[in-house]
Amino acid sequence: MNTCSIVRRRLLAGLAAFGLLTGVGAVAGAQEPLQEPLNVVATTAQVGDLVANIAGDDVAVDALMGPGVDPHLFQPARSDIVRLTGADLVVYNGLDLEGRMEDALERLSAQVPVIAVADFIDPGRLMRSVTYADAWDPHVWHDVRLWAAAAEPLAGELATLLPDSATALAENAAVYSGELRELHEYVAGVLATIPEDRRVLVTAHDAFGYFGQAYGLEVVGIQGISTDSEAGLRRIEEIVDLLVTREIAAVFVETSVSERNVAALIEGAAARGHTVAVGGTLYSDAMGQPGSYEGTYIGMIDHNATVIANALGGQAPAGGMNGRLAVAGQ
Ligand code: ZN
Repeated sequence: MNTCSIVRRRLLAGLAAFGLLTGVGAVAGAQEPLQEPLNVVATTAQVGDLVANIAGDDVAVDALMGPGVDPHLFQPARSDIVRLTGADLVVYNGLDLEGRMEDALERLSAQVPVIAVADFIDPGRLMRSVTYADAWDPHVWHDVRLWAAAAEPLAGELATLLPDSATALAENAAVYSGELRELHEYVAGVLATIPEDRRVLVTAHDAFGYFGQAYGLEVVGIQGISTDSEAGLRRIEEIVDLLVTREIAAVFVETSVSERNVAALIEGAAARGHTVAVGGTLYSDAMGQPGSYEGTYIGMIDHNATVIANALGGQAPAGGMNGRLAVAGQ
């Protein structure tokens, strides 16, 4: 296969797949790029966004999982396997987030470099799974400091494949880390406005352990760490009891998890004379639409913090940290 056709194939695949493609200037005019960009395939959109923020124009980033896709349940289709095997580098979250991709990633690592963002995070800062013994909680991106900690080592990893771009990659990582520091401060600030006795975050599954630990909220998930197990009636009853006795006024829906269990909580509480509202829809394991602010990691976290703060009696600007949130309170 000649180089041009490889370039075209990779660029088209990246565009069709996610739109998180850097170095696309040459595509718009249907011109051949001067050189073949490094083709990085990410699993989740947040991993793809991290890579895209560090990578420059020499890297095309293609994420497999779009909005509303649940990484715990995601099984790569044949077309995804083609994208993965055609990559120069595969980046995934790790800590069993992509539980049903494990075999595919393992096989892939024999032919393509495969790295996990979680491997760049100090193990001393990881949380244990509340559901599975001897497992870690994989939802590390909800503590902005942990996600930021992966930026620099990821830049170093990319630099081993693109040694000529090492300086630019390191600079991009430093700039992005600065943006994430600001994000962390915003999140901590708005969540601190929630009255102490209302700092309880009830969501569809246990995605917010790191978020709760980092920002001082008690978190309660209906399903466990993974959505790959059904919540029992007993679990629903336990949480209804908690909502009633602690007078919790709002629970939250997640974009990548069915609303069914959250609806059962609201009905259960109503049957006991306690009104619970849906505080909003959170981006737990998937980001918003590509091209939207919520389709970026910063927008995802800004949305969550802003919606949670306002729904639980705190105060956050309706438009969020940057005044860019699409639908405040949703
Ligand atoms: Zn999850």
